[in-house]
Amino acid sequence: MTTTLVDLDLFTDLRRFGAADVSACFTCGTCTATCPLSDDAAAFPRQLIRYAEVGLKDDLLGSKELWVCYHCGLCSETCPTQADPAEFMATARRYAVASYDPSGLARILFTRPVLASVIATVVAAFLAAFMYSAHGPQESSSLDLFRFIPDQLIHWIGIAVMVVMALAGLVGLVRMTGQVARREQVGLRDVFGSRPALRRTLSAAWSAIAVESLGQRRYRADCGADDPPEPLYRRRWLVHALTIWGFLGLLVATVLDWGLALLRIKETGTPIPVWYPSRLIGTIAGISLMYGVTMFMVARVRRTGTSYQVSTAADWLLLVLLWLTGATGFLIEAALYLPAAPGWGYWMFLFHVAVAMELMLLLPFTKFAHAIYRPLGLFFYARAKAHVHTA
Ligand code: SF4
Ligand code: SF4
Repeated sequence: MTTTLVDLDLFTDLRRFGAADVSACFTCGTCTATCPLSDDAAAFPRQLIRYAEVGLKDDLLGSKELWVCYHCGLCSETCPTQADPAEFMATARRYAVASYDPSGLARILFTRPVLASVIATVVAAFLAAFMYSAHGPQESSSLDLFRFIPDQLIHWIGIAVMVVMALAGLVGLVRMTGQVARREQVGLRDVFGSRPALRRTLSAAWSAIAVESLGQRRYRADCGADDPPEPLYRRRWLVHALTIWGFLGLLVATVLDWGLALLRIKETGTPIPVWYPSRLIGTIAGISLMYGVTMFMVARVRRTGTSYQVSTAADWLLLVLLWLTGATGFLIEAALYLPAAPGWGYWMFLFHVAVAMELMLLLPFTKFAHAIYRPLGLFFYARAKAHVHTA
């Protein structure tokens, strides 16, 4: 027999994470009927609102549905009482990220904007100061970035940042998996216990990672039908996709750059022709990232559309870190190709590396964490969907 625990403080606690005041909701179900992504395998948002209202914390945290929602805002437009179910879903996702993180850092970053800004500034400043403590000379004839900050130092700090990020992310993923698997009643045997189970698992993983997370299929096809129609360049799914693809492209370009240096084809950070794979991918990915992030920022400032009516400090922290990483990357490229060695190029490099490291270090504790939790939620959704179709 399973025991259902009721958390009487759940609703109050949720409100600390954003505009989750759905007290006007009278459970009419219009939002669920309107949501283009709600179906037999995942019915939301009404059910999740009920969980919050009656204190079913484990059910809320174990809801794969949180991650199937893309915050398109349609449900809020049709809600007869303006309870804003779309914003409730976004708030519940922040709450879930903080609950999966045992350190408490995510909770601080989501609920205490001033302290979050101080932490973000201190972490970047510490990383920059640490790297600067080992700095070398600033050449004046050509920009020798890795004599200024030794590449080995950046390499090892990068590894340390990745290890912390991976461990924190893994802990969160394990906690989320436990919660969702319990609610979905999925055991290890259902996932790996037989050949058909393994086939279903692989198929669900493909759907979650390749088709939905990278290909944005349902976001594009089901959520992308704006009314009135937006021009393609402003569609939310495209802006979101360009941001993801741009970020991943920059990661690939960075790894390639290190690979070329390891193969002794070129020194890291030195100018290379535009057709070099790492440069080509980096430039295209940088443009893609900058376009996506800038469009999100403009939409949030202008509050265009239902999904941009409410912006939290956590939304801005992620956008600002991404934007600074992209913009400083382009400025370094410009400095590398300018005649002589502009002194600001060295400082831009130090700033860029510190911000990029911070972005990765804080990934599991910020809104960026949805990049790891959403594919897992979509995995459980794809499994449930396959089950509905075969039942
Ligand atoms: S949030 Fe609005 S649309 Fe959804 S069930 Fe409540 S009142 Fe109805
Ligand atoms: S915001 Fe969009 S995807 Fe999310 S629950 Fe509402 S209608 Fe569905």
